[in-house]
Amino acid sequence: MITADTTREEAAEIYTQVCKMPIFVLSPTKSPVANCDECSQKGHHDTPEEMDECPCLACHGFHAATTDLDRVLEMLDRYPDGLLAGRMGVVSGLVCIDFDPPAGLPTMRDLMERGLLRETRAQFTGREGGIHMFYKHPGGYITSRSGGAGTGVDVKGDGGYVVLAPSVHPKTGRRYRWRYDWASAPCDELHPGLLDIIRPPEAPRRRSFDRTITPRGHTRMVGLVRTVMEAPPGQSNSALYWASCRAGELVARGEVTAHQAHAALFEAALQRGIPEREAGATPDNGVISQGLRRGQR
Ligand SMILES: [Zn+2]
Ligand SMILES: [Zn+2]
Repeated sequence: MITADTTREEAAEIYTQVCKMPIFVLSPTKSPVANCDECSQKGHHDTPEEMDECPCLACHGFHAATTDLDRVLEMLDRYPDGLLAGRMGVVSGLVCIDFDPPAGLPTMRDLMERGLLRETRAQFTGREGGIHMFYKHPGGYITSRSGGAGTGVDVKGDGGYVVLAPSVHPKTGRRYRWRYDWASAPCDELHPGLLDIIRPPEAPRRRSFDRTITPRGHTRMVGLVRTVMEAPPGQSNSALYWASCRAGELVARGEVTAHQAHAALFEAALQRGIPEREAGATPDNGVISQGLRRGQR
């Protein structure tokens, strides 16, 4: 049972040993702790796979999360004021629906009235009225997105993390606390209707990958998307960069627009579990845009 009197160390033991949840430590302001000098250099550990495998204790934010209690205790030792946080996503088998007061509360009532909020493991956040509801990860890719489940309701899925009890919210001074005993409260599955809201059916995202593309451009793009989809585990990020460079060449020849190439590759990247932030949510940032620019040179 984690209460206001539970120490960070005791809580860490419950999270890692009973809940089997990968956890890590945030700075007291809720931001990730700084990377070491080596890991701060660009090109050092840049892909998600490299960050997951980095041997450093606490570099790369949630990528440092682990169920190895000794490592977590070392982190707590190194950051005496640090907050405990849990990594969400397929790695931990969890998705968190984060209701932020005040905007998220009407959305919560609406979802409840529609029967979409199943009773599940939950914690009260450090903001009065705020609540985190934890559900089983349904598999595939769940995008972490603010407002992802409606106004004021964030989705913490792949690439996401949440502060955990008994941490204290840096702004309000209130403790996060469990609604019930964590270990005895089961995590339910996401209601299919809620899953539809947080992961809309794919059709709309494919729209940009259509008519104005030349037949040759279309065939080539299908091939490039397949390269990303079928890259061996651990190589999806480099495959994405390679495919983006080739797509940039198609853009330069007018076979496809940069927008179409980006949309198709972005979709493939998400399917492969590459976080939105790294793939590049817009045509101006991330791995895809780097590749597209390089291919057009
Ligand atoms: Zn590193
Ligand atoms: Zn490091």
